[in-house]
Amino acid sequence: MKSEEIVQLSPLVRRITAGNSSVFTGPGTNTYLIGINDVTVLDPGPAIEKHIHNIINSSKKLKQIVVTHTHPDHSPGVKLLQNELDIPAYGMINDATKDQDKSFNPARILFDGDILEEEGYTLEVIHTPGHASNHLCYLLKEEKMIFTGDHIMQGSTVVIAQPDGHMKSYIDSLLKLKDYSLETIAPGHGELMSNPHKVADWIVQHREEREAKVLEVLRDFKSGNPDSLVERVYEDVDSGLFPIAKWSLESHLIKLQEEGKVTKKGKEYILN
Ligand SMILES: [Zn+2]
Repeated sequence: MKSEEIVQLSPLVRRITAGNSSVFTGPGTNTYLIGINDVTVLDPGPAIEKHIHNIINSSKKLKQIVVTHTHPDHSPGVKLLQNELDIPAYGMINDATKDQDKSFNPARILFDGDILEEEGYTLEVIHTPGHASNHLCYLLKEEKMIFTGDHIMQGSTVVIAQPDGHMKSYIDSLLKLKDYSLETIAPGHGELMSNPHKVADWIVQHREEREAKVLEVLRDFKSGNPDSLVERVYEDVDSGLFPIAKWSLESHLIKLQEEGKVTKKGKEYILN
């Protein structure tokens, strides 16, 4: 995936990938251009001037901006884009203080089930908390293509980091996708994916296996915390990723605590 190249993905959808590749963002953040005449910009990405100019030059008429969530690799481009073009942005806001783009100021807050009726296409809003409490997916009805932001990424599993991330909500939001007729996933990072329901099932299963591993290790250790458990729970993962894995591990422990399977005393989680 070359950054800043405009790629036609389907009759209604084009993609430009921002030049911000990293361990968190894979090949970079995907910005999607939806529609032919009245174009919707989905996730303008980080505030990278070159990227914003490529978005502006991509289409005769950019009508509006929608964002999946307000992490720094998805929405700060909104403000930069609006400095050049007077178009509205929509999405949900987030009150968390860490890792949030506070410049995001939507003209209208979107909610689950909202429909954006545009010239030649329709977008349905699906609230999918888990990675972030204000995370939205958008379904392009005409092509059954779902824009999943960081709810589902291609090539890596999503980090669920406390306190705004929430593992139980994340799994529920994956299962929720079953209610929709879907053909393609257009993720916030990586390439298009087919069989959306199978992909969602696989992720749920992967999380369940990880949770089973947490319980297994806790049975051996009697108690533990993300620091002491990570090496065993993530023994299949490169140790360079442990600092990131610990965030998801903590989210698994909190889910188990919420379900009454473990108790937290000080920093330690103890199997009930
Ligand atoms: Zn992202």
